[in-house]
Amino acid sequence: MRKPIIGITCNTLLVDGAIQPGITRIFVNTPYVDAISLAGGIPLLLPPVTNPTLICDQVSTVDGLILSGGPDVNPLLYKEEPLTNLGTVNHARDQYEVQVVQAAEKLNKPLLGICRGIQMINVVYGGTLYQDLSDIDGCNIKHLQSVSQFNALWHSVDIQPTSMLAQIVGKNKLIVNSYHHQALKTVAPGFAVTAHAKDNVIEAIECQGNHFILGVQWHPELLAEKYTVMLSLFQDLVKRA
Ligand code: MN
Repeated sequence: MRKPIIGITCNTLLVDGAIQPGITRIFVNTPYVDAISLAGGIPLLLPPVTNPTLICDQVSTVDGLILSGGPDVNPLLYKEEPLTNLGTVNHARDQYEVQVVQAAEKLNKPLLGICRGIQMINVVYGGTLYQDLSDIDGCNIKHLQSVSQFNALWHSVDIQPTSMLAQIVGKNKLIVNSYHHQALKTVAPGFAVTAHAKDNVIEAIECQGNHFILGVQWHPELLAEKYTVMLSLFQDLVKRA
């Protein structure tokens, strides 16, 4: 039997100064690929396409999925106006990932959302986001970490002891990294919050039904090589796939 294939959604980049003006490229940060390889899966990059049938074909080709980090989700998707501190949005990627999540639901593919990924999952299932952490009363932890190593730990999170997340990592408390300026506001129906930062910012959610959907606000892929507890998130996804 072959190893499970884990699809990773990608970013697009408009290439300034390319010899083909207006050309875009598709990419993902290498640690996603490395983390899946290390966890025993076959990493496969999923380029954003527009044809809905093709999106379903892509999702049916893989055994599990990672929604990777990236730019802000367009607030129109959760029926809000864009506020002053919203960052960059990528309409094409939003459109693509909404359909990837829907296809994963239809085809019952295990889904791990990372950073933007937890936010996208929450929005697709009917939740909303804070467009910037400054919109949250009492949010006083620096969630955009400032340290020169990409694999450094930053703030603690408290994990719901009875959650799937606690089972996977085998702990009720973790020190994680933090590279976000947005956070979940209302949580989508059918999902439970399973980790909080000390300032109550939501750091993880999971689906309460039979479909495996886990979202984390931090970036475990950056820590997976150094910390086995972070690798365990990818090993669990590979096992379920
Ligand atoms: Mn954080």
